[in-house]
This record gives sequence, C-alpha cells and structure tokens, in this order.
Amino acid sequence: MTRAFVTGINGQDGSYLAERLLDEGVEVHALAHTADEPSAFVPTAVVVHHGDLTDVEGTRALVRDLAPDEVYNLAAVSSVARSWEAPDQTAAVNGLGAVGLLESARQVQEATGRTVRFVQASSAEIFGSPTVSPQDEDTPIRPVNPYGAAKAYAHLMVDVHRSRGLHAVSAILYNHESPRRPTSFVTRKITSTVAAIARGTADRLVLGNLDARRDWGWAPDYVDAVVRAARADHPRDYVVATGRSHSVRDFVAAAFLAAGVDDWEHLVSSDPALVRPVDATDLAGDATRARTDLGWEPTVGFTDLVARMVESDLQTVSAH
Ligand code: GDP
Repeated sequence: MTRAFVTGINGQDGSYLAERLLDEGVEVHALAHTADEPSAFVPTAVVVHHGDLTDVEGTRALVRDLAPDEVYNLAAVSSVARSWEAPDQTAAVNGLGAVGLLESARQVQEATGRTVRFVQASSAEIFGSPTVSPQDEDTPIRPVNPYGAAKAYAHLMVDVHRSRGLHAVSAILYNHESPRRPTSFVTRKITSTVAAIARGTADRLVLGNLDARRDWGWAPDYVDAVVRAARADHPRDYVVATGRSHSVRDFVAAAFLAAGVDDWEHLVSSDPALVRPVDATDLAGDATRARTDLGWEPTVGFTDLVARMVESDLQTVSAH
C-alpha cells in the first residue's frame, strides 16, 4: 500500500488532497499544528500527527518513522498579506521548513533504497510582477513579497535535491479557489459577502484594488495536477494554471450574476487602506508542460468556479 505524508492538512488543498489519495487507497499521514483544531474538511481516515514544520528535527524523526512513498509539502504561511506582517515566520515555514522536509525525504530514500516522491507546492508569486504573460517554467524568478521570496528559495532547493537524486517536483500553483477558501482571500471574501447581500444580511462589499488580475482555477483540479506530478516518470517542475486571468472586478460581477443580483455597482467600493503597497498586477500561467507531460486539464472554468463558490455561500447563509 502506498503511504503518503501531507503537510498543511488543515488548509484548502490538504483536505482535497487527502480525499483524493484516500479514494485511491493510499494511506494518508498528515502533519498538523499542535495548536490547530483539525479542519472540518479533513477526512477521519487521515492519521494526524501533531508537530511543526519549523521543528526540522521533530518532523525528520516522524518522516523517518513513517518512511512514506510520497511527500506533499502544502504547509505554508499561505497568504501574501500575512507574509508582510510576519516575514521571518514566512521564511521559516515556507522556506526553511520546506528545505528541511526535502532533506528528510532524501534521507528516507537513502536509508530504504526506495524512491520517495516529493511535491513542493510552489506559487506564481515566485515570479513577482513579471513582464511576460503568460508565465511558464522558464520565466525568471523575481519575487516581490516575503511570501514569494520564501517560496522561491524552496522552489530552487527542489531543483538542488533533484540533482541529488530525489524525485522532487515543484508545482507552481496559480491562485486556486473553492468554497473551502478562507475569507482572507479575495474570492471567498467576495462570494461570502455577495451571498450575504443577496440574503439581506450585508449591505456593502468593500475591497482593495479592483483592477488586480489573477489566473483563478478550481482547487481540486490543482490537487489533481499535484498528484500527477508526483507520479510522473521523470521529476520536472510544472506551472499549474488555466492560462486566463480575470480582474477582481470581473470576479465581483460574476458573483453578483450568480447570486441573481442585477443592480450591484453602487454596493461595491474600493478602500485605499485595502490596496496593497506592492502587488502583482497580472498573473497568468502557461500550463502547456502539465498538459503535455501529465495529461492534465482544468475542468472548471471561471464562471462555473464563481458560481460554485456563490452557491455554497448562499446555502451557508440560509442554514444560519
Ligand atoms: P494572492 O494573489 O495570493 O494575494 O490572493 P488574494 O486572494 O489575497 O488576492 C488576490 C488579489 O486581489 C490581489 O491582487 C489583491 O490585492 C486583490 N484584492 C483586492 N481587494 C482585496 C481584498 O479585499 N482582500 C484580498 N485578500 N485581496 C484583495
């Protein structure tokens, strides 16, 4: 039986990945923060180990004991906004924590003589504010925030470990969303507020930069790409993206449409306090390599993605 070790199990992607692996009959072990309540979305069949990725020795001992076949590093200080408040913690978790785990996986491979497959959840933020669009695996790495810089370090170390014989891949994930996204991300902030407006429990949607553009995809599709990358014959880095960017304003319009609210322009405003001092203005990824090598395909387009999130939030609002 294949055994997987997943960090970041309490995040959006952790729960989708666990569901996916369990469906395939994989035994799933996960690392969760001691302080964290397990997320309601984590399947009960997951064996949860408490610890902290920044405790490299503790995590290493656990990985050595488990000797997993596959390691998925999803743990991260996961928002750019948070990384500005805690750049040192972001470096420790997103950078050094990832490198510690890579080395742990390499040691297991060396000790057991079995291949250990490692996937690092990398991010479009490693490209910063790129001058080329869409970006691909050869786009220069030039992060513009603490989140991107820490992810860039981990990304580069994947390549270093690959050259030392580890089946390590870096999945350069563009923004990927779902009803499980926390409201600190703009997509879920929009869909939860629009649902509340449609139900009469909120009257305004206040955002930052409405012109920022992102390539938003459906989180379970991105988890599918991550698993395919782990299982590929040869380890390579992959951009995982839809290839199409939309503005925050487009997202807002699609959300109101999905909620059946026609006259909404006057309900939305931009607060300069929420506009980030440094922000990528447009990110869009070229996933040709993932499509060609992995047979990967996004299955949910932008309008459908927004509609699914709004629908879920409308149900949550009605249930309260
Ligand atoms: P990110 O791309 O990982 O930073 O994901 P976010 O969902 O946090 O932000 C996506 C884009 O939406 C960024 O360009 C933000 O500047 C922009 N944005 C505009 N208004 C807001 C807001 O109210 N909250 C958040 N989180 N982002 C906003």
